[in-house]
Amino acid sequence: MAVVIIVADGARPDTLVSAMERGIAPALSRLRDEGGMYTLTSVFPSVTGPAYAPFLMGRYPGPIGLPGLRWYDRARTTSRLPGNSRSYVGPDMRHVDSDLDRDAPTVFEMVPSSIAALNVIGRGLEPSARLGRGLGFIARTARTHFSGNVNGWLAIDRDIARELADRIRSARPDFAFAALSGIDKTSHSEGHSSTWVDKATQIVDWAVARIREDAERAHLWESMHIWVVSDHGHSPVAAHEDLAGLIRDMGYRTIAHPFVYSTRGEVAVMVSGNAMAHIYLNLAKRSRPWLADLGGRWAPIRDRLLARESVDLMILPVAPGACEVHGRARGHARMTWSHGLVSYEPFTGDPLGIGTQDRLDEMESYDVTLASDYPDSLVQISHLSDSQRSGEIILSASRNWDFRARYEPIPHASSHGALHRDHMLVPLLLSRPANTRPRRTVDVMPSALRALGVTPPKRLDGKSFL
Ligand SMILES: [Zn+2]
Repeated sequence: MAVVIIVADGARPDTLVSAMERGIAPALSRLRDEGGMYTLTSVFPSVTGPAYAPFLMGRYPGPIGLPGLRWYDRARTTSRLPGNSRSYVGPDMRHVDSDLDRDAPTVFEMVPSSIAALNVIGRGLEPSARLGRGLGFIARTARTHFSGNVNGWLAIDRDIARELADRIRSARPDFAFAALSGIDKTSHSEGHSSTWVDKATQIVDWAVARIREDAERAHLWESMHIWVVSDHGHSPVAAHEDLAGLIRDMGYRTIAHPFVYSTRGEVAVMVSGNAMAHIYLNLAKRSRPWLADLGGRWAPIRDRLLARESVDLMILPVAPGACEVHGRARGHARMTWSHGLVSYEPFTGDPLGIGTQDRLDEMESYDVTLASDYPDSLVQISHLSDSQRSGEIILSASRNWDFRARYEPIPHASSHGALHRDHMLVPLLLSRPANTRPRRTVDVMPSALRALGVTPPKRLDGKSFL
């Protein structure tokens, strides 16, 4: 068996359905008819980078070291430059592999016959197995990113799609993974319902059609799975909160990208996607302060933020296994978890809108939140709150808002990263039917291992749907 996974980065389920119904994605429609289409939940933060950990490691991103696209290294053990910050937008991308938990294997480490393109996580991948990794290509993606050139992204996707199909045909790898970022890039810049997104979707369709045609011609289609999946959704943004500026104006020495190389910061503002943020308080402290350790000096930040229209949810980690969840103008609830069982108790309010829940396992947590505005929120919040690298305040933005007003090379007409369903629900297309219902993006990697006959590692967050 061979498994090919194409990440249509940023595609929402309804966008793909619409493309299929309008007849502009015939190869994807064929997958849906023959294998099936499912809606999965992604992870929080719903942002490229962290949201790839499920596909390649079968794990939620926070506990394995990727709490966000940007994060602050309070322990100063990983990011040693002044400022101790990470941003995987740009050259820090090269650190992703070493930032990840060594004990959590990647699919590339378990399946030696692998190739990948724009995969973010690449530990275990041979240099010759990395598509589009030449210096010229990297310079081109950087130039395209910083110039905000929409056509440039589509040209990159076309090249990646062609290289992927060519390599699958010539090298016949067991596992192939490629991300096509055109849907995400054009959505940020032009809006998720723009015709640019159709053009990007057609490139995904072209790739599937070409790989299938080649496999059929070589009589290999019967022993191949092709899956098309996405890592996060998108929603329109009408207003940008300058989160870092807001806290700076309150009188705190604040570090935020791109100006992070200061050793005198008191507060770090690390935004992802741009609809989520980690805020790190009392940076002088090298071990993580919990809510009770923080003291009065930092309370005005929490109060001020909770009054902002841009803030939908505020998560305050209380201790390992406990947090408060505040909703702007909706009061707060307490969450606790241990041994995989999560409880949720409305206190002054019910910000997640799910009522009291007592000791739910991962499946029950999923079912109880799926129809809410925050699908899989109980599981996602518990894992992110416990991450050693998370902030003392974790924010999820209101609809129509994000958290970066300046220094963004691509205009953000649309954003993602938040916990609400527009960002958390993603499509999955399969070339042959699943045996059980796929639920979460973390199910993708265990399913690939099952298809390939590879023994899964001991610790995985997902379950095979095959
Ligand atoms: Zn994006």
